[in-house]
Amino acid sequence: MLPFKLVYSDDYYLPIGAHVFPAEKYRLVHERLLKTGVADASDFIRPQLASDQDILLVHTPEYVKKLKTGTLSPLEEMQLEIPYSPELVRAFWLAAGGSITAAERALKEQVALNIGGGFHHAYPDHGEGFCMIHDVAVAIRRMQRDGKIRTAMTLDCDVHHGNGTAAIFSGTPSRGGPLPSVAGSTLKSPPGSMKSTPAHDVFTISLHQHNNYPAWKPPSSIDVDLPDGIGDDDYLAWLDNALSSGLRQFEPNLLCYIAGADPYREDQLGGLALTVEGLKKRDELVFSVARARGIPVMVSYAGGYARRIEDTVTIHCNTVIAAKEVLAKASGTP
Ligand SMILES: [Zn+2]
Repeated sequence: MLPFKLVYSDDYYLPIGAHVFPAEKYRLVHERLLKTGVADASDFIRPQLASDQDILLVHTPEYVKKLKTGTLSPLEEMQLEIPYSPELVRAFWLAAGGSITAAERALKEQVALNIGGGFHHAYPDHGEGFCMIHDVAVAIRRMQRDGKIRTAMTLDCDVHHGNGTAAIFSGTPSRGGPLPSVAGSTLKSPPGSMKSTPAHDVFTISLHQHNNYPAWKPPSSIDVDLPDGIGDDDYLAWLDNALSSGLRQFEPNLLCYIAGADPYREDQLGGLALTVEGLKKRDELVFSVARARGIPVMVSYAGGYARRIEDTVTIHCNTVIAAKEVLAKASGTP
């Protein structure tokens, strides 16, 4: 039995047909964790659908209404890059419910993973890049509303910039095109650089490939713009640096780790060169730092588009194993 809970439902499956997003990965991770004995059935808890009120803590009433009534414009559906259906809306409400449960459990048990979620490209008023609802932001706002936390930090290690997260928590407007000053500074900053912007109640960190989607990257509290093709050692050094810098500036009551599998060198939508082992070290680093400081961690999965889906599944399963190993080491059990 694991010393923390995994939040999962078969209904996390996204009904999007043949797509580069491997919608069946959640089911495959669940299956692999059970088959390899990493987890047993009692380690999993089922999420409930987020309520509309929960979703409205982050998203605009106009956008929520369009989703519920099937009235997105063709442009809005195109930006989403996955085909709209009422079933898809339900799957995103469920992913948000899963992140709420994972946040609640993390606050009780130090660590919890949502075997789903991490939809970091969703903005308050529209969806983008396979992300309809920002489940992690919904979970943070819900924990704050319930008085369970005051502050949170998001640590986004997906290969793509966390544009929705940055926009939501910095209050950057998402419409009207990129701000010239922001677009200018993004273009001018060379890859391999780290920028900081003051945070309010949620501190956002994004480590991402500079030359990748999204073209416009609204500023996070810390943005690490990584050059193409960097490998394990460089990546881990940047991560260590960004996380220590963030934690010097800010004391979060909850760390929301967005553990994308797409910095992997075999990823179809990524351009970094991390190995499976390097990605596991990344996870270990995050859990170890959080553990040393007593910060609860909730995990969500975000992207992963490896040429072989088994690799994506391995990387996501390794995040569970890394959490298990770090907690065992910390408590002195073998
Ligand atoms: Zn991604």
